[in-house]
Amino acid sequence: MKQEHRKLICITCPRGCSLDLTMEGEDIVKMDGSGCKRGIDYATGELRDPRRMVTTTVRVTGGVHPLVPVYTESPIPKPRIVDLLAEVRKIELKAPVKFGDVVIANVLGTGVDILASRNIPAKTEAS
Ligand code: SF4
Repeated sequence: MKQEHRKLICITCPRGCSLDLTMEGEDIVKMDGSGCKRGIDYATGELRDPRRMVTTTVRVTGGVHPLVPVYTESPIPKPRIVDLLAEVRKIELKAPVKFGDVVIANVLGTGVDILASRNIPAKTEAS
């Protein structure tokens, strides 16, 4: 079978190894440049089912800040990120918001929840 070469940067850790892959069809038959065994897991996942953690913000009404940072509790399929961000833009929370609150459960049917990553207390008359 004809071999092809692909290059990927492993983003699993800050070292950022440059992976040189030799492919036969969809199979990785050789990999150079990996600093550890996790490189092959990253390359396999990136080629077959690329996923990313997503962080963004959601609007909050009645809080001491107008936005709360949120994040996906685990990586979601990369092709779904644009749709996920569109879903998040539809949301407006009411203060108070607590760290770890589920902002959207099972977003887009991915099985992944979007969680708040900080507290946003309600604005009081004094604040
Ligand atoms: S291959 Fe290993 S050492 Fe290199 S970036 Fe990936 S996890 Fe880090």
